[in-house]
Parts: sequence; C-alpha cells; structure tokens
Amino acid sequence: MTPSHHPSHALLIDHAAGNLAAGQAFVVAAHVSACAACRGEVELAEAVGGALLADLTPADMAPDALARALARIERPTPAKASPPVRPDWIIVPPDVLEAAHKRRRWAAPGVWVAPVAKGPGDLRTYLLRVGAGMSVPRHTHRGSEMVCVLKGAFVDGDHTYRPGDFAYSDAEIEHRPEVTSDGECVCLFAARGALIPRDWVGRVFQPFVRI
Ligand SMILES: [Zn+2]
Repeated sequence: MTPSHHPSHALLIDHAAGNLAAGQAFVVAAHVSACAACRGEVELAEAVGGALLADLTPADMAPDALARALARIERPTPAKASPPVRPDWIIVPPDVLEAAHKRRRWAAPGVWVAPVAKGPGDLRTYLLRVGAGMSVPRHTHRGSEMVCVLKGAFVDGDHTYRPGDFAYSDAEIEHRPEVTSDGECVCLFAARGALIPRDWVGRVFQPFVRI
C-alpha cells in the first residue's frame, strides 16, 4: 500500500543530511521504508549532499590516514542479535523492534507503550498500541509531534492514517484520534513535551500511559 500522508520536503532533507535527532529519524525512516516517493527524495538529497562534499577542496591527509581508514573498515563489528521482525508491521529500524520486545508495558486496557529513545531535551520517542475502535482522549501538544503508523489505522478529523502514513502535529492542533474498528493500531511517535489533556478522560488516562 502506498502511504498518502508524507513528511514535508524540508523534513526529508533534514533526514538525508543527518540533522534529525535519533528518535525523529526513526519515525521518518519508518515512513521512508514504506514510501517509494519519499525514498527517492531522500536518495536524491543524499546524492546532492555527497556531491557538495566531493566539491570541497581536499585537505592534506596524515600519511597513515588510508591505513587507519582501512583498519576501521576491516574491524569486525560485534554481531548484535536483532529482534525478530514483525511481519504485520511496516519495516522499522532495529532499535524500534527491540523496544517493542523488551520495554513494552500495558498502561491501560487495550493500550501498551514502549519507550524507544529519550532526548535530546524533552524529546521522547515511543511506540503506542491502541486497541480497535478506541480513541486517544482529546489533547493538544506542548511541542512538535511526529508519528508514523506501523500497523492498523486511525482516523483524525477528515483523514484516515494507514500503515506508513506520517503525521505532524504541534501546539496549534487539538485532536482526538480514533483507531478504526478493523484491528489494533501501533504507531511510532517522536514528541517534544508531554501531551496536554483537554478532557477528563485524558486527565485520568495520562498518569497511566505517561505520554
Ligand atoms: Zn512519503
């Protein structure tokens, strides 16, 4: 399935240039793995960035620079046991799968949370699973929030977000996303600051879910 909601061009360029925090890069990478159009944009931006670097005036290198570079390439990297893939999810970075397997915590009936990364600053990256037909209490955000759907679908206003879809929210947006009745929905979030609940359900929900 081709995603229909994409990151901005500026965000894709920041991603290609390595300017995003790790957690934000995980969210964009998850979308890019599912979206051929954005993958093309990222590859183009990387190629342009590489060409710009290649144009820089070469600096004198230390006499042993080549030997050191080769030694670094040949050094075997310790094998990191990668967690099993989730065949029912879109492709995600290994750190995200690892979080799902090792740090998943049921926070409320039908809801689990798994922290993926913390920082820098107040940025928090986490997985959130919400059961079929449930809605996240009405809330707004203190800062930016990026999300990519890994499995299932949710409805937010006039839009339905399906696997691979990307959404960006900020303090301007107040919403109450609702998971479709088809099945559970798992999303990857990178959010600055905690949510601000806008109804009593949210105020009850937040201390348990801690997002
Ligand atoms: Zn895309």
